[in-house]
Amino acid sequence: MRDLGVVMVVSGPSGSGKSTICGHILEDNKEDFGLVVSHTSRAPREGEIDGVHYHFISPEKFLENKSNGLYLEWAEVHGNYYGTPGDQVEKFVDMQKNVILEIDVQGGLQVKAKLPKSVLIFVSPPSYETLESRLRGRKTDDEEVIKKRLENAVGEMHKSSQYDYFVVNDELQKAIDSIILIGESERKRVPRLNLNEIFDSMRFPKFQK
Ligand code: ADP
Ligand code: 5GP
Repeated sequence: MRDLGVVMVVSGPSGSGKSTICGHILEDNKEDFGLVVSHTSRAPREGEIDGVHYHFISPEKFLENKSNGLYLEWAEVHGNYYGTPGDQVEKFVDMQKNVILEIDVQGGLQVKAKLPKSVLIFVSPPSYETLESRLRGRKTDDEEVIKKRLENAVGEMHKSSQYDYFVVNDELQKAIDSIILIGESERKRVPRLNLNEIFDSMRFPKFQK
């Protein structure tokens, strides 16, 4: 019985907890989930490893890849290019794994347009105050960047109306469980399934009208 993986886009304001959630899901469910490593033209931050956090490439190489149709979606964020390599997505879907794409909303909407069966999940902080304290607690950004991220978060929250699911990341484990459950439920949706193949595998006789 052919059971393809689900393409799951995870977006949300910076500091809402996307990386934390996706990191746990992938760590604990290697058999069922795959993470696509994006290409970016931005420089690596301290501690980031090429091929693990991103594939770091030059803007020229990015544009060449883009014109060669390598990207399922791409976007320019804060002056840098980011793109999802389509072949990585296909590889995991064929392996029957759910694929997590941790990308921004403009990228998510491009994925949905190309792959209507993909699922768009918006991760929200439980409150504005919590978002602020998580951004400060992360200790990765200076005050100016935190202010900018908080400002951007206001607009980003409204974009969730274009998404399929809204997951509030209050208690971490609950948010992780919700996203795993969304993947499991989506795999059971009838439009994804080849019912005739399933009935055959169950050895049901052919239905005669
Ligand atoms: P994003 O990837 O969306 O920018 P992060 O995953 O980096 O966000 O999370 C921002 C900060 O909030 C991190 O320091 C992380 O450890 C913390 N965090 C994430 N989820 C929770 C949660 N449910 N409860 C408390 N802290 C959290
Ligand atoms: P950062 O530079 O902080 O790692 O990421 C900046 C933003 O780019 C985040 O919102 C992140 O989700 C988004 N992003 C990362 N990879 C991709 C990608 O491949 N495509 C798109 N559209 N956005 C991405």
